[in-house]
Amino acid sequence: MDKWEYSESIESDSIVSIQAKYGHFIDGKFSTPNSKNYLKTVSPSTEEVLASISIGNEKDVDKAVNAAKEGFKRWSKTPPSERAKYLYKLARLIQERSREFAVLESMDGGKPIKESRDFDLPQVASNFFYFAGWADKLDISWGTKEMKPYGVVGQIIPWNFPLLMLAWKVAPALATGNTVVLKPAETTPLTALLFAELCEEVDLPKGVFNLVTGDGTTGAELVNHEGISKIAFTGSTSVGKYIQNAVGERDIGLTLELGGKAANIVYNDAALDQAVEGVVNGIFFNQGHVCCAGSRLLLQEDIHDEFINKLEKRMQTLRVGNPLDKNTDIGAINSKEQLEKITSLVNEGVNDGGELFQIECELPSTGYWYKPSLFTNVQPSYNIAREEIFGPVLTTLTFRTPEEAVEIANNTEYGLSAGIWTEKGSKILWTADRLDAGVIWANTFNKFDPSSPFGGYKESGFGREGGRHGLLSYLKVRS
Ligand code: NDP
Repeated sequence: MDKWEYSESIESDSIVSIQAKYGHFIDGKFSTPNSKNYLKTVSPSTEEVLASISIGNEKDVDKAVNAAKEGFKRWSKTPPSERAKYLYKLARLIQERSREFAVLESMDGGKPIKESRDFDLPQVASNFFYFAGWADKLDISWGTKEMKPYGVVGQIIPWNFPLLMLAWKVAPALATGNTVVLKPAETTPLTALLFAELCEEVDLPKGVFNLVTGDGTTGAELVNHEGISKIAFTGSTSVGKYIQNAVGERDIGLTLELGGKAANIVYNDAALDQAVEGVVNGIFFNQGHVCCAGSRLLLQEDIHDEFINKLEKRMQTLRVGNPLDKNTDIGAINSKEQLEKITSLVNEGVNDGGELFQIECELPSTGYWYKPSLFTNVQPSYNIAREEIFGPVLTTLTFRTPEEAVEIANNTEYGLSAGIWTEKGSKILWTADRLDAGVIWANTFNKFDPSSPFGGYKESGFGREGGRHGLLSYLKVRS
């Protein structure tokens, strides 16, 4: 029989309307920036320029913070049930326009449409629904006599889950009565700008949600603005440390969600085929641009060869290409810079002595791409086993006993997440109890729910997002 031809199934981008140039969203409306500097946001899969984005300067940030300060006077006094109504409206509109958001997210960030459509957008809407539900129940939990909102919250988010990180931050902040100035990442600002349009559409009171686009300099202006009462940051550990130092002795709140190098531990009694699926999902989801990615595979020594064999076969079936093709598993790398970082770390791993397997596939001729990759024969001291690669690259280490698995898993400066694969419930509990990780999955990976707190230990940061604990990140004790 002849081989079947592959037939692509492209999601149309006609639903999306992108402006040539964007200003900031301040005090309930889009306004002309003070800064005359713009950057171009490009599609990482085609290198096509999508729009020009203002690089907000000190004056732009100041205007947004002042609007948020005025907004706070009213929003913090707005009855909680009214605040909830706005969040419910936003949640419903996000659902209604989810295809548009999903296509835009895939165009601007490079992630496969099946992930932005089936993971990001449903999660975004459910976060708004979840925190809308909390807004009028804060009294029951803590009593508003004991807790109060911070005031103006500066929120700085990364490029790997642009709209979802917005939802994780904006929904709990608004539910608890804070107002927000958000700075999205320079490579992925478009869905945040579309979200600002929804805020206009639901008549969210002026100054409650403000958006200043830009790069790291804009983020630094926000961090250093004295009108800010709290900073919530997700991104690299190096910028997280900079922010912690910059905040210094100022009496403001701070939560940091930083990097990770999660161990995904597979014991020899695990259901191996299921574990292979979980390991693939753990590292190749979103091109590996995931802070909690299971980027260190820890295999019990006696199943190493069998598991690697199955894993390589499974990896070979991954489809790399156009993010808007509904069959794509691995989309584009988010930026040229990130591609260079991944390439350089992988080259270093090969030079150190790691054995590299990459799938055989044709990569598109334009755009930024990286083949799904697997390292074996790795020593724990290699950089590929220690540094966050933030790409589709898995590093394998082996262990003999559960004690050794725990020791290797914890031998990292990070402490964000981990995975355990075994058929023994007692072994799951024994292992989980000993892992220094904020989130631990057993016989699954990368499962998220708005009611479940997420955050790390050690250099993965502090503070929690999601659940009741996530609300606490936006409330402070009355003195
Ligand atoms: P950054 O930490 O630089 O970016 C995160 C956010 O912080 C972006 O909005 C960024 O702006 C902003 N920012 C940058 N510098 C400053 C500053 N001095 N003050 C305030 N805000 C600032 O991550 P990158 O995008 O540069 O990625 C670098 C590496 O970080 C990646 O290779 C990856 O390893 C890791 N990373 C980890 C993430 C995680 O969730 N753990 C998320 C993203 C990256 P802008 O991007 O617009 O310049």
